[in-house]
Amino acid sequence: MPNQSSSDTGSDKTFSLRQGRNMLAIPGPSVMPETVLAAMGRPVQNIYSGEVEELSFSLVADLPRIVRTEGEAFVAISNGHGAWEMAIGNTLSRGDKVLVVDSGRFGLLWGAMCETMGVAVEFVPSPSPRHPFDAAVLADRLAADPTHEIRAVLVAHVDTATGVRCDLFAIRAAIDASNHPAMLFVDGIASVGCERYEMDAVGADVTVAASQKGLMAPPGLGFVWASEKALAARERADLVTPFWDWVPRRSGGPHYLLFSGTPPVSHLYAMRVALDLIEQEGLEHVWRRHEVLASAVRAAVDTWSTEGGLELAIVDPDGRSNAVTGVLTGSIDSLELQRRCDDGANLTLGIGMGDAADFAFRIGHMGHLNPPMVLGTLGTLESVLLSMGIPLGGSGVAAAAAVIGQALAEPAV
Ligand SMILES: *Cc1c(COP(=O)(O)O)cnc(C)c1O
Repeated sequence: MPNQSSSDTGSDKTFSLRQGRNMLAIPGPSVMPETVLAAMGRPVQNIYSGEVEELSFSLVADLPRIVRTEGEAFVAISNGHGAWEMAIGNTLSRGDKVLVVDSGRFGLLWGAMCETMGVAVEFVPSPSPRHPFDAAVLADRLAADPTHEIRAVLVAHVDTATGVRCDLFAIRAAIDASNHPAMLFVDGIASVGCERYEMDAVGADVTVAASQKGLMAPPGLGFVWASEKALAARERADLVTPFWDWVPRRSGGPHYLLFSGTPPVSHLYAMRVALDLIEQEGLEHVWRRHEVLASAVRAAVDTWSTEGGLELAIVDPDGRSNAVTGVLTGSIDSLELQRRCDDGANLTLGIGMGDAADFAFRIGHMGHLNPPMVLGTLGTLESVLLSMGIPLGGSGVAAAAAVIGQALAEPAV
């Protein structure tokens, strides 16, 4: 029996609406499906043969389908940063030069990591943080490299700091137009499992992802997919250290070599369930679901917009990601807004990043999401905005419901 003290009357407690389940609307880690969570609770089995071995090989075999490549997949026991390092280490050498697309925070961080590892980095600027990268700038820069000093172009497909999405086909076309042999490395950490991303169609040589965003699994696994050209680059790369090395991992030896040691069994159980969920839904449908739900979020923010108030961070409709939406808050204190959502209503929003961090927030909409979760998020946000007396252009929830209603009315495909 709980003790029946005077505290049960509630008189010394503060009323709050934050009971029930937390809605985690940050751009990763994302909400995990119950079946994925339950899979983590399975006992770890013998790692030397049998089920765990089959599991490891099945994941490595199935992962290429998620990014539509004929290339090879590597699983790093790491977060996205580890996958970044695995990609660089296995393909580049000290003194090599790379171009890094400055799409915002994550492109810059990947570039900074290259620099620390001894690679010469040149950042190619975006026109502004509110617009996607202009591939024409890249074409000009590559054309000015007749000796092909530049080994690779690095780009974040979606930069999670603002929700900007760059046009990978335009970037590939810029490389091809200058007849440049540079490899294309894509950070798909925020986009794989959310945005349409077809590695071979884009002509990417390396794709990097992590388990905790669109792939609906716990943080702790990094993924790198490598094209034949990237695999061949390993032969001359001198930056790699033993743990990250692709060579033993793809040697065909015992499956623990895939992980440079003991497999992360519980994570592999979870990842297997998550991949199966994606396959059952169908990748095209996964992408379409994200598009519909993201359109609903954008419609809500657009409708809330007022002069000096909220607005979408990315100006160009084509440059807005289906995985995360950046919102600028004008003169409204976004930390206060975020605190009220969390403390008052159990809705966790992503904080602003970069220079305007105090006047920006982010809504993550990646992975295991449906209309009740997204409309619940938007409805809660609208309630909090109203509670703060913030003037709104209209009901964003109504606009979002209309978008989702339209999608629900479409014939099933
Ligand atoms: C989250 C994220 C990262 C960093 O991933 P970690 O798992 O935190 O290391 C890198 N790039 C992008 C685009 C991301 O969204």
